[in-house]
Amino acid sequence: MNVVLFGPPGSGKGTQAHFIVERYGMPQISTGDMLRSAVKAKTALGVMAKTVMDAGGLVSDDIVLGLVRERISQEDCASGFILDGFPRTIPQANSLIALLVEMDKKIDFVISLDVDNSELISRLSGRRTCPSCGKGFHIIYDKPEHDGVCDSCGALLVQRDDDSEGTVISRLAVYDQQTSALKSYFMDLGVLHSISGTGPIADIQHQIASILDAGGRISDHS
Ligand code: AMP
Repeated sequence: MNVVLFGPPGSGKGTQAHFIVERYGMPQISTGDMLRSAVKAKTALGVMAKTVMDAGGLVSDDIVLGLVRERISQEDCASGFILDGFPRTIPQANSLIALLVEMDKKIDFVISLDVDNSELISRLSGRRTCPSCGKGFHIIYDKPEHDGVCDSCGALLVQRDDDSEGTVISRLAVYDQQTSALKSYFMDLGVLHSISGTGPIADIQHQIASILDAGGRISDHS
């Protein structure tokens, strides 16, 4: 079962991807995480991507597709994977579909998380992340027990460079201009399932499980 989690920045794709990883045992492929790792490692790709990411723009389709192609070919993706943050443009979607056809695979489900812009701005600008274990928090909705400190590992929480308010506005504009059109693209493919990304996380998880259970658990196919 191959799943795309779709939605604007801050719609909860990462949070819901973790839930799907746990429940269905398939890997999450987050292009944002892969790019952030390259930035942290200061690879040539990372140095180039950082400027674009800090400005809230999109890294080139070719680069991102190269990362996804390599990751999807790995063995742990053979029975299924969750794409989080990819595709983000029509050319990326076309390339993904061509790649999957080459591999005799397809997209089974696209889950779109719908959240309005004012909520997204408040979610993103209050978001804090643990640089050590990756756990996410929010200064209002999901406070750590001790201000600024990760509950899980005790590291000091940081704000992602691209979660500053100015960059958030640019990221949402980029989503409207380049990514939102993919919704009708996926609808035409007959794989789109839109749900509200607001409300209790458990309710959203429940809706996602109802959709994906119709596709069978990975273990059912093995
Ligand atoms: P995310 O963590 O998914 O919000 O991604 C963070 C940033 O990484 C985005 O704002 C883009 O600059 C870059 N990025 C992530 N995924 C893609 C993609 N599929 N295409 C282009 N740029 C991407």
